[in-house]
Order: sequence, then C-alpha cells, then structure tokens
Amino acid sequence: MSRNNSHKFIIISLILLVSLTCLYLWHIRKTGVSDDFFAMDTIMSLQAYGKDADKAVSEAREAILGLDAALSVTNKDSSVYRLNSTGSCSLNEDLQYLLERSIQIQEMTGGAFNICIYPIMKEWGFTEKNYKVPEKAAISELCKLVDGSKITIDTTADSVSLSEDAMIDLGGIAKGYASMKARDILKAHGINSALINLGGNVCAVGKKPDGSPFSIAIKDPEPDDTGENTFTGVLKVSDKCVITSGGYERYFEEDGVTYHHIIDPSTGYPAASGLKSVTVVSDDPTLADALSTAVYVMGKDRAVDLWRTMRDRFDLVLLSDTGQLYITEGLKDCFSSKLEYYIID
Ligand code: AMP
Ligand code: MG
Repeated sequence: MSRNNSHKFIIISLILLVSLTCLYLWHIRKTGVSDDFFAMDTIMSLQAYGKDADKAVSEAREAILGLDAALSVTNKDSSVYRLNSTGSCSLNEDLQYLLERSIQIQEMTGGAFNICIYPIMKEWGFTEKNYKVPEKAAISELCKLVDGSKITIDTTADSVSLSEDAMIDLGGIAKGYASMKARDILKAHGINSALINLGGNVCAVGKKPDGSPFSIAIKDPEPDDTGENTFTGVLKVSDKCVITSGGYERYFEEDGVTYHHIIDPSTGYPAASGLKSVTVVSDDPTLADALSTAVYVMGKDRAVDLWRTMRDRFDLVLLSDTGQLYITEGLKDCFSSKLEYYIID
C-alpha cells in the first residue's frame, strides 16, 4: 500500500470508529440499558439511560445481589442468618443503617412495623413455604419475642446481638434499602434518568429521557376476568419511589381461609385492618418500604393520623377491602384512576 493510501485507510478507519461509538452512545441514550434478574425472592429490573448506563446498571445489580446474600434469613452464610442462629453478628454499614431505621420506624408506627416478627413468620411457614396455621398458644408465646428492645447495637464493638430467642427478618424493608443503594450507584455514574423496579418496589430516577415523568401503575390486587393484571391507578412521577404492599402478594389457604404474609405484631396473625393494598410514595425508598408494610397493619385511620404528622415525607394510596380508594393530598396532581377515589387532606 502506498503512503497516500495508508493515510486514507487510517482516516477512514478513524471516521468509522468515531461514527460507531456515537451511534452506540445515541442508542444507549435513546433506548437505555436494561437488566432483569432474580434476587430477594422476586424478579428485579433496572433500566437506565445515559453514557455510563452499562457500567452503572451492572454495578447496581452486583450491589443488590450482595445485599440479598448478606440479609437473607435462609442463606446460611448471611449476617442475618448468623445473628438469628447464634444471637450475634458483626455490624457493617448496611446492617447498622437497616437496624437503626427499622427501630425508628417501629417507634413511628406504634409497633406495626417490627423486624422481630421472624419467629412468627417461621411458625406460619412463610419463610420455608411450608405453610401451616399455628396453635394459638404457640403464637401467644412467640408474640413475647416480637420486641425491638431485644436488639442491642454496639457501635464501639461493631456488633449486634439479640436477647433470648429473638430473631429478625428484614423482608419488609430490605428491597426499599436495596433500591436506595441502586439509585445512589446510578447517580454516582451520572445517570439522571432510570427506573429501578425491585419486584413492584419502583423508584424513578429523574424523568424519562424525553423529559416527561415516568408512569408507574399500581397493580390491582384482584385481576379481572381475563386473568390479565389490571391497575388500581397510575402515578406520574419523577424522582420518587412508589412502593406497594398487600396480602395478595404471598398467601396460602387452609379450610377455605386465606392467610397472608403481613403479620400484625400485636396479635401474631395476618393483619386484618380493612386494607387490601397500600402504596407509599416518597423520595426515601427505605421509609416507603417499611411504611407500606406498617400501614397495611395499621389500617386507614391510624395511617392517616401518621401521615398528618409527617405529610412532607410521604403520600399514600389506600385500597380498602370493600373497594374504596383513597389518596393523600400530595398525589392529587399526579394520580389517575378509572375508579372513583377520595382525596384525604
Ligand atoms: P412487604 O412486601 O414489603 O410488605 O414485606 C412483607 C415482608 O415483611 C414479609 O414477608 C415479612 O418478611 C416481613 N413482615 C411481615 N410482617 C411484618 C411486620 N409487621 N413488620 C415488619 N416486617 C414484617
Ligand atoms: Mg415493605
């Protein structure tokens, strides 16, 4: 090849390389990078738009898988398993944050949220999916262990311990915390448009790439006749998390009675507060996750009282057992539904 031709070849190759890179970046900005995987007993999906989306999504996924491994009650290598089986374990940043927030939210919700619920979850068979209705006497004995004061956090020794036979279960808060970690990672990579969906716990990072808000649908607890999922309503949000809890998510039936997985710590039985589904909207997903579980236990009136004391921190969408739909005032401009609904102020 002559010198002239070899210059031409280098220039054309460079142009081609730059064009392909631009095309790839344009494609990622437009269609985003998405990743679906299984963790924390549910299907998760991360979708991010932006230059560094590929790296950001895979780092966020690794962080979620790491939290799953550390916080699982059944994984014999997890910190929580060690804590429950030996009565103590060492503390790391994640565990300390989760324990402290859990205790704080337990106090805020008058005990409706209580991570010491684990002995009762186990007795009902929700952990190992070997469901059974326990004896009444066994439940009242186990209720004595559902007591946050049995957790001692020692930040000097970096350890946590449980007294007596107490055991913890972070299942009501861990997904919210995981979405907060994922959001932090995406943002650290400069991502300002993403959707984090951890089994229905959804966090919108910024707006959609076209500048409009994300639409997040709230699943109808009872599918219509076609068996398709229908929606209780849709929220149009940016930079907010939308987290839903309901007994319909996990349950079993015995002698024609349905028993679900959200337990009222004051009775040891599945909560029966008159609510079918609770959605919490907040920019704090850890709070929203724990509150969605707690509000399902508390019922509408207690939940509204709590909302009135901290209405700048979260909003609610409540669907009652009888099909009545309520939203708190902060959502009035971003919520829509085919159903009639009441606005609580
Ligand atoms: P969620 O789907 O976020 O409402 O969480 C339900 C999970 O939270 C259950 O599977 C249990 O692991 C745990 N849980 C059940 N009842 C309670 C409760 N009253 N307080 C805290 N965690 C609970
Ligand atoms: Mg929850």
